[in-house]
Amino acid sequence: MRELTIDLDFTCCLCQNPLGVTLQCGGKGMYQGGIASVAIPCPTCGDLNEIYFTPLDGSLHGVRPARKFKLIPEPSLN
Ligand SMILES: [Zn+2]
Repeated sequence: MRELTIDLDFTCCLCQNPLGVTLQCGGKGMYQGGIASVAIPCPTCGDLNEIYFTPLDGSLHGVRPARKFKLIPEPSLN
């Protein structure tokens, strides 16, 4: 199985800080549908950016804030 190394540069959609990531892409799952997505934590604001890219040619399609599971506060019994 061939492994690809992709360098992607994008801007954090929350704090507008420039980010660069290097991704190792391998395995069948990466190629389903042609476009892959991965969530990258921003080192500046700590939020997650979900980036969409084509593993085969390393082209970036878009960045959006990743959905986060919000923690439901447990009711406190005081
Ligand atoms: Zn950020």
